[in-house]
Amino acid sequence: MRMYDIIEKKRDSGVLTEEEINYFIKGITNGDIPEYQTSALLMAIFLNKMTEEETFYLTKAMAESGDKMDFTGVEGFKTDKHSTGGVGDKTTLIVAPIVAAAGGKVCKMSGRGLGFTGGTIDKLNSIPGFHTDISIDEFKNTVNKCGMSVVGQSKNLVPADKILYALRDVTATVDNISLIASSIMSKKLALNTDGIVLDVKVGSGAFMKNIDDARRLSRLMVKLGNMGGIKTVAVITDMNQPLGKAVGNSLEVIEAIECLKGNVKGDLREAAVSLSSEMIYISGITKNRKDAVLKAEEMIDSGKALEVFNEFVTMQGGDGRIVDDYSLFETALYKENILSEEEGYIRGMNTGEIGRASVILGGGREKKEDDIDYSVGLIFNKKLNDYVKKNDIMVSVCGNDRQKIKAAKEKILSAITIAREPDRNIKGVYETVE
Ligand code: URA
Repeated sequence: MRMYDIIEKKRDSGVLTEEEINYFIKGITNGDIPEYQTSALLMAIFLNKMTEEETFYLTKAMAESGDKMDFTGVEGFKTDKHSTGGVGDKTTLIVAPIVAAAGGKVCKMSGRGLGFTGGTIDKLNSIPGFHTDISIDEFKNTVNKCGMSVVGQSKNLVPADKILYALRDVTATVDNISLIASSIMSKKLALNTDGIVLDVKVGSGAFMKNIDDARRLSRLMVKLGNMGGIKTVAVITDMNQPLGKAVGNSLEVIEAIECLKGNVKGDLREAAVSLSSEMIYISGITKNRKDAVLKAEEMIDSGKALEVFNEFVTMQGGDGRIVDDYSLFETALYKENILSEEEGYIRGMNTGEIGRASVILGGGREKKEDDIDYSVGLIFNKKLNDYVKKNDIMVSVCGNDRQKIKAAKEKILSAITIAREPDRNIKGVYETVE
């Protein structure tokens, strides 16, 4: 077999066989295939697309390119949750304790944030003492003791994805549904849980800008997961504005704790209950979705999910007192407000730009090796469709550098539009795909 022939076949819109795809993935993983040939094939795939079958072979070959997780010793139905990435998305910190408190087993391997979307690992690392670099045995032990654990992605999980993603990033081939779905789902097949709930974001702060694309990506990922033997469901949720009120690592952990205390209403609680109820349902804890929703609500309202969160934080080395004492988090030196310059309804928030403003403050990374300032971030006093008067506080900006705060404020102000009428199409949760 020759890589030249595989590129030529895809260039001419041919359908690749399983053997050809395996040859390609093996070749890039062991370094036999040079980057220029890989890049050429990526562009041919981008332009001529892949069938569902080809996408599944690609996903499977990538999943098998490195280590696979072995959950021997963890009893029960193990679930994972994955978000396609958003701004202010702290749902894992709420969903995992809810599901664990309901009797589920949540096994989550998370990435660090890159670009304008935040990563769960960074949020957790803002808790004093917390470790996400624990061993596999510690991971399994924590799941057995508190029903959940979150660790950083192991180095040899899907090495083929690391190679492909780095090349896609510099060859303008990120935005292809087969390449996105196989990249995400290969890591899920390698983690090898029994079930997974995918949170597919749609809107100005997401990969998928409209509901039709979000639906297509959801259907494909659900199919790939199920073909790979994992019970998979997707929930399409909104990313036309930051989720909840806080953006930034410590601020988001505090908001997640407030949600677990039952003090948060609106889109964040709605998304968290919807995702956790799907996980409860596929775990077989309830017979139907309606009971799963009631169970999820009960886990918040009874304080049981908060107890699990506290136990999980302590088991992974974190200071459990943060649940009651937010002063234990690093706090920013300055807080400046953004005031409304006119009266009307908040009609649009360019959420990608808002995420970039948080990166300017130091709350996210532009490059993989950048350090993060856990204390900085944004607090949204107003959300989409809220009515504002001139000089009302819309957003508070927390930072440690006046110049960066100024730049972030300018970005946020130009990301928010105000109109005479609200947008009636905005919802928190759109639909479930299974
Ligand atoms: N997340 C991934 O892991 N891969 C993609 O291609 C896009 C989002």
